Amino acid sequence: MPTRRPRKSARRSKPAVAELATYAVTERNSRGRRFAEPRPKTRGEFARDRDRIIHSTAFRRLEYKTQVFVNHEGDLFRTRLTHSIEVAQIARTIARAVGLNDDLTEAIALAHDLGHTPFGHAGQDALNECMAEHGGFEHNLQSLRIVDKLEERYGAFDGLNLMFETRAGILKHCSPARARELGEVAERFLTDRRPSLEAQVCNLADQIAYNNHDVDDGLRSGLITLEQLEGIGLFAMHARQAREEFPHIGGRRLIHETVRRMIDAQVTDLLAEMQARIARTGVATLEDVAAAPPLVGFSEAMQEMNRELKQFLHASLYRHYQVVRMTTKARRIVKDLFSAFLSDMRLLPEKYRELGEREGDARAIADYIAGMTDRYAIKEHRRLFAIGEL
Ligand code: MG
Repeated sequence: MPTRRPRKSARRSKPAVAELATYAVTERNSRGRRFAEPRPKTRGEFARDRDRIIHSTAFRRLEYKTQVFVNHEGDLFRTRLTHSIEVAQIARTIARAVGLNDDLTEAIALAHDLGHTPFGHAGQDALNECMAEHGGFEHNLQSLRIVDKLEERYGAFDGLNLMFETRAGILKHCSPARARELGEVAERFLTDRRPSLEAQVCNLADQIAYNNHDVDDGLRSGLITLEQLEGIGLFAMHARQAREEFPHIGGRRLIHETVRRMIDAQVTDLLAEMQARIARTGVATLEDVAAAPPLVGFSEAMQEMNRELKQFLHASLYRHYQVVRMTTKARRIVKDLFSAFLSDMRLLPEKYRELGEREGDARAIADYIAGMTDRYAIKEHRRLFAIGEL
């Protein structure tokens, strides 16, 4: 078991508050906020970060942004909002089990997709192509840009003024050139250091969440079938277990009983592997975590099963012709919007014209488009290109 110490934010009058491991991020070892603020009275600093993210505009927009299916295709599919909540749930469970800072973990998980464009990866790829000569577009950097700069909620500063470790956890990838521009929050990309365990947990929780919910959504949409999935190790194993326990089960219940077992197996495997790696490397502090190889991961066997599932989803779901039709349309919408705005900045709301004067027109356009929900982008496209629409 990890060595534990009391959480600094714990109130003395409540002895039952969970204790954190010595390698967890705490308020004591945190690098704090960019702009000094009075301490929160009723919650910890990282809980405040989580709450700020929940109250942000970008977070609410996740409700109408999608990953695989476009928002208007049905009400039952995951959106980026429900995805982020599922990631937070899985990540929090893992964090608590090993004494990590669950408020920080939750904050990173809830913010990890804030910078996504409308229409999932198709939208991001299209916007990145549009931005090729203007510094590119990457959803991960955009998430940080939103919490650092674009949210307008406070009188004293732009953005949400989050704790350093929340911001660093949101920044999952970063090129060396961009890291030099970003400074301290990205310094680990120049020094080959690992992020906090809380951030590493969110990263894997993200994978667990989307692999499993894409199986569920894929089946619901009818684009993939139960018969196909019976040929995939991880699914087959847990479908078999579900049938053993409930011999007459079928339909949606079988799918849910299978998917919940898959999630449980992945979380259990990850926890065991993580604890083994922590014990093997003997990490005890945040510094040790930064210097160690990645500590959050699956066992070899689980990694192999995940790989098989991922390959199947890529080939059969993400590249299904009905998905490709939608993503092709999505790319066109993003590209049309971008070039229309770039050719005439007067088409943009005033706020973005002003932003363009400060940060360059293309970046302001990218901020505007990235902030759109699927349906808003469709509507905006119609307003700009359909004769007779306003
Ligand atoms: Mg995600």
